[in-house]
Amino acid sequence: MYLADLCWQEAGKVLSDPETIVVIPVGSTEQHGCVGPLGTDWMIPDEFCRRISGMDHIVIAPTIPYGVATHHINFPGTIDLGIETMIKVMGAVFESLFRHGARRFVVMNGHGGNDPAIEKAALEIYRRGGLVALIDWWGIAPKLNPAWPTGHGDAQETAAVMAFRPDLIKPEYLLDNVVPAPTKNLKPVHINTVLFEGAPVKIIREIRDTVNTGGFGGLESKMATREWGVAMMDGMTKWIEDFINEYRSVKLPEKDWE
Ligand SMILES: [Zn+2]
Repeated sequence: MYLADLCWQEAGKVLSDPETIVVIPVGSTEQHGCVGPLGTDWMIPDEFCRRISGMDHIVIAPTIPYGVATHHINFPGTIDLGIETMIKVMGAVFESLFRHGARRFVVMNGHGGNDPAIEKAALEIYRRGGLVALIDWWGIAPKLNPAWPTGHGDAQETAAVMAFRPDLIKPEYLLDNVVPAPTKNLKPVHINTVLFEGAPVKIIREIRDTVNTGGFGGLESKMATREWGVAMMDGMTKWIEDFINEYRSVKLPEKDWE
């Protein structure tokens, strides 16, 4: 069920039920390589939530469409809350739901840049007696199938969007990546990450200086197929359902941390 569909009297019952898990979809509005829509990072978690919305004792909170997009701000359309604001946004969402009785949360996240802010706010609510699981789907998918490698704004996310909004991927905008190496001994492998003698190190730069399309890390967007996306979204949905059923049995924290 969706929180937004309930009246406050229904919400009072649902949120104070100890069996309830509140799922919070969160993403970002930011550039996603040459063909990924700006909403990629919130649309994918939103779609996972739609697929699991019929599970017992699940309530889906409204999708948070903004996040920490500081690295991406030089691309048109990107909206960046910054990390300090994002900690406050996540903290306020957890705190409000906690006040109404919710204790067990799942954050369905679409954007790696949000992780530090979500984890900070999650620890605060843990110290009050709440519990948060953070699902970063893009890192899970390659464990389900190594043919689904992750990056930013590349084939993995493009394929995922193709599964449910194929109309948003426009082949006429496909570009080849141009990724200049900082030196001949530093091999770029992900946004900001290079390998030196085979080991990863970050050199922090604007993404526009690291890759022309803005998308990098796994396979280029032109490798995405709808078939990949459909199989990955289905596989991930099954994994998420199984995880949530397991998560129900994790003990809530003792409330003596304050
Ligand atoms: Zn993304």
